[in-house]
Amino acid sequence: MVATAAIQPAEAQAYDAIVIGAGFSGLYQLHKLRDELGLRVRVLDKAGGIGGTWYWNRYPGARCDSESYYYCYSFNKEIEQEWEWSERYPEHSEIRRYFDFVADRLDLRRDVQLSTEVTSARFDGARNLWLIETDAGERFEARFLVTAVGCLSTANVPKLPGLETFKGQWYHTGAWPLEGVDLAGKRVGQIGTGSTGIQAAPVLAEQAAHLTVFQRTANYSIPARNRPMTAEEIREIRASYPEIWRKARSGPNGHPFDIPTRSALSVSDAEREAIFEKAWEGGGLRFRASFNDILTNPAANDAASDFLRRKIREVVKDPEVAERLTPRDHGFATKRPPIDTAYFETFNRPNVLLVDLKAEPIVEATERGIRTSKREYELDVVVFATGFDALTGPLLALNIHGENGLPLSTAWAEGPRTYLGLQTPGFPNLFTITGPGSPSVLTNMPIAIEQHVDWITDCIRHMRQEGLERIEAKPDATESWGAHVNEAANATLLPMASSSWYLGANVPGKPRVFMPYAGGLARYAGICSEVARDGYRGFALR
Ligand code: NAP
Repeated sequence: MVATAAIQPAEAQAYDAIVIGAGFSGLYQLHKLRDELGLRVRVLDKAGGIGGTWYWNRYPGARCDSESYYYCYSFNKEIEQEWEWSERYPEHSEIRRYFDFVADRLDLRRDVQLSTEVTSARFDGARNLWLIETDAGERFEARFLVTAVGCLSTANVPKLPGLETFKGQWYHTGAWPLEGVDLAGKRVGQIGTGSTGIQAAPVLAEQAAHLTVFQRTANYSIPARNRPMTAEEIREIRASYPEIWRKARSGPNGHPFDIPTRSALSVSDAEREAIFEKAWEGGGLRFRASFNDILTNPAANDAASDFLRRKIREVVKDPEVAERLTPRDHGFATKRPPIDTAYFETFNRPNVLLVDLKAEPIVEATERGIRTSKREYELDVVVFATGFDALTGPLLALNIHGENGLPLSTAWAEGPRTYLGLQTPGFPNLFTITGPGSPSVLTNMPIAIEQHVDWITDCIRHMRQEGLERIEAKPDATESWGAHVNEAANATLLPMASSSWYLGANVPGKPRVFMPYAGGLARYAGICSEVARDGYRGFALR
C-alpha cells in the first residue's frame, strides 16, 4: 500500500502589512508604508494588472467623471508636473497608462502580486496577526491588513431567469473583456441607465447595428463637454497645483471647485436660469456647484431638476420618448449624477430603442433575447450596466473573520458599522480605505483615498514608535459615529432617492442603510485629525 502524505498547508510568508487591491488606494498605501515607514509590505490583487476599477471597467465609453487634472495623486510633485493628460476627462486606457507611469516611477511593481485572489483573512488574537489565504493556497501573515478594494468593484448582475438559456453573449460593464467585444452588426441590449449606462449607450449605438436600452429608472445627466487639453491649459494647471489641491481638500467633495455662497432661491428666476444655463454649457459635475443648496433645500433641488427635465425635452425629438427619459421620482443629484457625451441625443438615432421597464418589466431572458411583460426583444449581446454591490460588497467578498472568528458578514448583518469608515469593532489592525461611513463615493476618490492612506500611515507609525501591537475601534465610538453618519445624511436630500445604491437599495435583500458619510470631506478630515491628536480617541490601543 502506498502511503499518501498529508497535504501540508503552505508556510505563511511574514510581512508587516498586507494590502488588498492595486488601484489608487493600494499603490499609494504600499508607497507610504514601504518607502516612508520601511515596512515589509505585499499588495495582493486578483486582477491581472494594476489600476483597480480601471483594470476592470473597459466598457465602450468608460472614462472618468472627475476632470483629469485632479483625478490623480497629489502627493508627488514630479509625477504631478510630468504626467500629461490628453483630454478634459481621462479615458480608461489613459488612466491605466497613468498607473503604469506612477508604478514605474515609484518602483512599486516588485511588491505587487497580481492574479492573486484573497479567499480568507482571519485574525489571530493571541499573536495580534492577520492570516491571509489566497486562491493559489498561499498563506501570508501580517500585523496589519489594509483593504484597498474600492467601493464599486463587486458587480451586481441581476438574477434574470433563463439567462443560462440565452444563446448570445452577455457581459457586465465592470468585468469587460480585456480584448474588447466586437459589436459590429450586432443587436445589443443594454440594461441599466446609471453613470455607466449613460456613458456606454452612445458608443454602443455607434458600434452596434441596433441598441435597445432597457431603462428602469429615468436619470438626469449633464453634458460632460469633453475635449482635448490645450498646451496653455496644461501650463496653467501645472502652475496652479498648490491652489488646486488646497481647494480640493477644503471643499465638501474633493473637487477643486469654488463653493458658491448663494442659494438657488436668493436670485430671480431669470438669474437662476442664466446660472444653470452657464453651468450646463460648461458641463460636468460642476453643475452641482451652481448654488449651495441644491442638495439640502427641496425647492432649490426642484429648480435644478426642472431645468434638467426641460433640457431633455429640448434634446429628444420624439416627445413620448422624451417623457419616458424624464426622471420624476427623485431629485437631481440625490442619486450620483451621471455626466454624458450625447446620451439623450442617442435616442434620436434610428437604430436605438428605449424600453421603459416601469411599463413593461423584464420577465426573463430567452434563447433569443429578453422578454418583458409585453414582448420579446431579439438580441445578440446583452450588456448589464446594472452597477455594483457598493461599499460593503467588496469587503464582504474577502471572507474576513475577526477576533474569536467573528465573520464580518455577521458584524455587518444589519448594515456596515464602522468608526470613521476606517475600522470595525472586533477586527483589530484591519483598516478599510474609503470604507462605509467615510466620505468615499461622495467625493473625487483620489483625494479621499490620500486622506485615508495618510491617516492610516500616521497611525501605524505612531504604534511602532510606541511599541503598540494592536488597535481596535471601540463599540461606543462606533455607535456614535454611526449616529453621526445618519444625521449627516438626513441633513441632505440624499436619503430621499429610494432606489439609490448609496442606501444599498439596488441589491435585493441588502440592508437599507445610508453608507457614505455626507458631512463633507474637509469636515471629515478635520475629525480624523482631531481623533489622532487626541491620542486616537475612540480606539483601544495596546
Ligand atoms: P448604478 O448607478 O447602480 O446604475 C445601475 C443601473 O442599472 C440603474 O439604472 C438601475 O436601475 C439599473 N438596474 C439595476 N438592476 C436592475 C434590474 N434588475 N433590472 C433593470 N435595471 C436594473 O450603476 P453604475 O451606472 O455602474 O454606476 C455606479 C457608480 O459607479 C456611479 O454612481 C459612479 O459613482 C461610479 N461610476 C463612475 C464613473 C466615472 O467616474 N467614470 C462611471 C461609471 C460609474 P434603478 O435606478 O432603477 O436601480
